[in-house]
Amino acid sequence: MTAAAPTRVLVLNSGSSSLKYQLIDMAGPVPGTDRPARGIVERIGEPRARGGVPDHAAALRAVGDELAAAGHGLDSPDLLAIGHRAVHGGTRFTEPVLVDDGVLAEMEKLVPLAPLHNPANIAGIRVARELRPDLPQVAVFDTAFHATLPEHAWRYALDPAVADPYAIRRYGFHGTSHAYVSRTAARLLGRDPADPADLAGFHVIVLHLGNGASVSAVAGGRCVETSMGMTPLEGLVMGTRSGDLDPAVVFHLAREAGMDTDAIDTLLNKRSGLAGLCGDNDMREIGRRMAEGDERARLAFDVYVHRIRKYVGAYTAVLGRVDAIAFTAGVGENSAAVREASMRGLEAFGVELDSVRNAVRGDAPRVVSAPGSRTAVAVVPTDEELEIATQTRDLVGERGLSLPPP
Ligand code: AMP
Repeated sequence: MTAAAPTRVLVLNSGSSSLKYQLIDMAGPVPGTDRPARGIVERIGEPRARGGVPDHAAALRAVGDELAAAGHGLDSPDLLAIGHRAVHGGTRFTEPVLVDDGVLAEMEKLVPLAPLHNPANIAGIRVARELRPDLPQVAVFDTAFHATLPEHAWRYALDPAVADPYAIRRYGFHGTSHAYVSRTAARLLGRDPADPADLAGFHVIVLHLGNGASVSAVAGGRCVETSMGMTPLEGLVMGTRSGDLDPAVVFHLAREAGMDTDAIDTLLNKRSGLAGLCGDNDMREIGRRMAEGDERARLAFDVYVHRIRKYVGAYTAVLGRVDAIAFTAGVGENSAAVREASMRGLEAFGVELDSVRNAVRGDAPRVVSAPGSRTAVAVVPTDEELEIATQTRDLVGERGLSLPPP
């Protein structure tokens, strides 16, 4: 008798100070329906007295303990693979990749492009490989879905002799979410995302509005434009990031305000966006303040929404015709007010929101435009963990890979 093939993927999202995990079962007609365990270990690098764990190795051991306590230890034979969220793949990683020493060395070389994120990803992968050297480990990159951008979209208008040696170009982020949401929106609207012929000509704008925010234009399943650039700072107004800015603002701050590079970096990444405009980065709080007549909160909301509309208009021009606009992530899925305000005035583009449908809350993908709307507007809850598990399973295969002995 042979043992049943393993069906579970452990998805790890290793950030600088936290480690999130989800154990996802990929068996059955709807893979991912069964998720036997999920959780988060926080305060990595903080003192134990404040509930911290010293490093990523200790964090992953804590995850192992939690999984074991739930009856799904890291040594379980049901485990098919570990799928890791990885932030910056540069131009080197445009698809999910089976991790080996060479891949880790290449990821190290990309650290200057994502100095906050990539070291944490690498640390998580190293520790997971030490704990289960026999198990395939797959890295799924946040930049990969945007690898199909044409050069006229990814290239900045800089002298290539300056830009290229420093890998300065637009990469885009949130790709795992944009991939998942664009396919789910296609399915919601009656297209088969697995059939390239059926998907051809399907044009969707995906608005990922979370604490970080980005928008992408996807034609026939391929991303052709996206708002984040070399780093996640470019594009939409975000919780704490400014998004688009005249680069001369940086020189001006340096010359006139005497700020150094690190101070400007912190200002633009951590103290700008909604938080910079009104002191709050949470759209729920901004909504409450607006209801009380708070003008700073109203202005922050207006700047946020105006930027979204500008991008929707621009991406409509890029795509030529838009079948659907899909909202996702914390704000996109939950804020009817942001959806309503950002779609207002787009009737000439064939966008007609249904205010009753838009106000209904729910967890399922749904259409919130009026029946006659030429462009459908949809809310599609994102599921980056399921997307990572799916890409990991697809790479590893149903029965798993035999790795050479470590
Ligand atoms: P994410 O990064 O996708 O987890 O999104 C987090 C953000 O979503 C928070 O900072 C809030 O601004 C926003 N958010 C979450 N729930 C709601 C809600 N019910 N209404 C409006 N915004 C929300």
